[in-house]
Amino acid sequence: MDPHPADGHDIIRVRGARENNLRGIDLDIPKRRLSVFTGVSGSGKSSLVFGTIAAESRRLIDETYSTFVQGFMPNLPRPEVDSLEGLTTAILVDQERMGANPRSTLGTVTDAYAMLRSLFSRLGTPYIGGPTAFSFNIPTTRASGVATGPKGEKKIVKDAVYLGGMCPECEGRGAVSDLDLTHIIDESRSLEDGAILAPGYTPDGWMVAAFKAVIPSDIPISRLTAEQREDLLHAEPRKVKIDKINVTYEGLIPKLRKSMFSKDPDSLQPHLKAFVERASVLRRCSACAGTRLNDSARSCTIAGRNIGEVSAMQVSDLADWLRSLDGADAVGSATDGATAEGASGDVATATLDVSGVQPLIAALLHLLDALVQIGLGYLSLDRPSGTLSGGEAQRTKMVRHLGSALTDVTYVFDEPTIGLHPHDIARMNSLLLELRDKGNTVLVVEHKPETIAIADHVVDMGPGAGSAGGEVVYQGDVAGLRQSGTLTGEHLAYTAALKDQVRTPTGSLPIRGANTHNLQDVDVDLPLGVLTVITGVAGSGKSSLIHSHLVNSDRAERAGVVTVDQSAIKGSRRSNPATYTGVLEPIRKAFAKANGVKPALFSANSEGACPTCKGAGVIITELGFMESVSTPCEDCGGRRYQAAVLDLRLGGLNIAEVLDLPVAEARPFFAAGEARTPAAEVVLGRLEDVGLGYLRLGQPLNTLSGGERQRVKLAMRMKDNGGVYVLDEPTTGLHLADVENLLRLLDRLVDAGRSVIVIEHHQAVMAHADWIIDLGPGAGHDGGRVVFEGTPAELVRQSSTLTGKHLAAYIG
Ligand code: ADP
Ligand code: ADP
Ligand code: ZN
Ligand code: ZN
Repeated sequence: MDPHPADGHDIIRVRGARENNLRGIDLDIPKRRLSVFTGVSGSGKSSLVFGTIAAESRRLIDETYSTFVQGFMPNLPRPEVDSLEGLTTAILVDQERMGANPRSTLGTVTDAYAMLRSLFSRLGTPYIGGPTAFSFNIPTTRASGVATGPKGEKKIVKDAVYLGGMCPECEGRGAVSDLDLTHIIDESRSLEDGAILAPGYTPDGWMVAAFKAVIPSDIPISRLTAEQREDLLHAEPRKVKIDKINVTYEGLIPKLRKSMFSKDPDSLQPHLKAFVERASVLRRCSACAGTRLNDSARSCTIAGRNIGEVSAMQVSDLADWLRSLDGADAVGSATDGATAEGASGDVATATLDVSGVQPLIAALLHLLDALVQIGLGYLSLDRPSGTLSGGEAQRTKMVRHLGSALTDVTYVFDEPTIGLHPHDIARMNSLLLELRDKGNTVLVVEHKPETIAIADHVVDMGPGAGSAGGEVVYQGDVAGLRQSGTLTGEHLAYTAALKDQVRTPTGSLPIRGANTHNLQDVDVDLPLGVLTVITGVAGSGKSSLIHSHLVNSDRAERAGVVTVDQSAIKGSRRSNPATYTGVLEPIRKAFAKANGVKPALFSANSEGACPTCKGAGVIITELGFMESVSTPCEDCGGRRYQAAVLDLRLGGLNIAEVLDLPVAEARPFFAAGEARTPAAEVVLGRLEDVGLGYLRLGQPLNTLSGGERQRVKLAMRMKDNGGVYVLDEPTTGLHLADVENLLRLLDRLVDAGRSVIVIEHHQAVMAHADWIIDLGPGAGHDGGRVVFEGTPAELVRQSSTLTGKHLAAYIG
């Protein structure tokens, strides 16, 4: 393939790109090809791919709306680029987690559930109504109007029952919220000693007075009689006299339900909201056994299974079951060899006539097969989409696009191999190529050598990060990259060696009989004082083991477990690395001292802030029908402070200029001279240690990638006296060269006496481990067991597991 075809229709032509750190770069990206963008983190890949190409495509699409609609939309700033030609519609497939809407499941977001509903309305017995009868988001209601019968005939009916499938008990959520008494009552205390833990219920306050008048107030709750206890907790409202005044007495639980738990949590004051969240537990709905569906929806079956049962099946099993309905494999066969025992063959399907629904079954199978192929066959359609990991969410979005009839689209992927074992990466690669072969342009930001290897075209950014990057250091094919002498080229050629010596554990944390999700009675000892890597294909049970049995277990506190994850950092839009790490504190004080003013002036949420954007630097426009958009504040030009504050300087810079410094420049600035601030320098040093030297102090936290957020947290928590550090895929967003720095950092933690446990797929990290715990052999019910524990050398020597085979090939 010629990467520079003469015909201008076949390239995306970028000229003079200067977004963020880009240095006026020019490049031609071949259309309908797979291009991989690589380079150390902070080199400018995202600024080019997302900030320039995808952003301009989106802006151009917005311009195609009518002026009426545009009136409601903010004017997106044009990216800093001289010219961009040959763009097509860009679709971003990122790792943004799916919203926590409890009504959304893997089935609803992929449309697989809608297809199942149609299938049940056509094939299910007894016939109970159209597809809506199986929707857990539609209630059953009674009304008059026009009804449509099963054959499409219309008739006027009075008082008709409109069938939805929603369980009336839990309103289709599958779970009901309940109160967790341990957070509401301290059984060991008496009412006088503050047994009621709910906010506002102080022992001497009027809220507790009624209880003290009715219930013995000087004995611990645990010693009350059954009747007294019932009266305290559950009594129906009744009139009682306190000090000759008539008041209504009501049990604590119904009282709390009315005053706090039945309210929209966001309408409560923060301390009440925190209490409600703490004291609420979700229990599976007993009326529908968690299926979200009402009785009539669940009474309808196909080949003996109702739609709730079918949705709870692992996707790979569901595909097998659908094929079994159809008799012999008439609709094509699964792309994945793994078939599940027991999914088919145990029900008589011979009498079922599926001829009328062939196209529907074929479409559903196509979707399910794509889910299997992309490595999600272990999920079930009833899985709440909010519980999918970032990588799983990204792959789910990808499946939605695989089915799309659109062509000549530019798909933009952000590290699609996240969460994928080397074994799964091969399958992901073939899907990327499939998208390309449908006539689309595929742009992928990726570091993994396995994906770089399949690129038609590679754009290597660098040479360094931040102001030391922003250039294209190589573009061309993969063979050329290996010869190019760039950092990426060098690392591609290099194969990791196993360590000569592994550390000896100083002890262990035993886990016994672990059964969460797919875990099958796992007994395992997590060694202490060493670097342990947990491996296994996606869905094998790594997170279930570590998160449920270590991080969120009772022992977490005793063992000093510190988790460093990629989840969003809570905070306002004004949060940035400076506020989050606390480094702004000493900096504000230094500014105040140098200028003889008070420190508060320099915090972006105080009187010193720009009044227009209130210190956010941006104006956020919420769009009802689209995601919200932020545009720089025109008043302060994004600098966040009032003009008067910007006149105050320290070491020649004002506060906005300091916040605009990358960590690596801020550190020497605060190390010596007029601005010398040792407390700031220490924190900046930690940020540099985790590979974030390129990050600007004031960059909003919500613009950081998951991997960057995790490293900011790691920098923060390194000073904690944690015993056990748990990290989930810390190599996310890291170039091979950055991975080496990360390994040195993890080594330092271990050498300082800590235990480090990482869930990782990166083979360089596996090779560097002292101990490996490999879960598998497959995903979902085919996984959940420890298939290997030992040193990397032993894993490679045995090569008995998928991980072992891949690692053996990697170290060559
Ligand atoms: P990569 O994708 O290669 O990791 P980025 O394009 O994210 O690199 O970052 C390149 C440079 O631009 C870095 O110095 C980064 O700190 C800076 N940068 C990225 N996004 C923003 C932003 N929204 N505001 C300010 N600076 C940014
Ligand atoms: P890994 O971390 O190895 O990718 P997980 O521990 O996330 O694997 O998943 C193991 C199994 O547990 C999978 O079958 C997955 O669908 C299931 N599982 C994980 N989290 C949940 C959850 N919140 N609800 C239901 N099932 C889950
Ligand atoms: Zn229910
Ligand atoms: Zn402003």
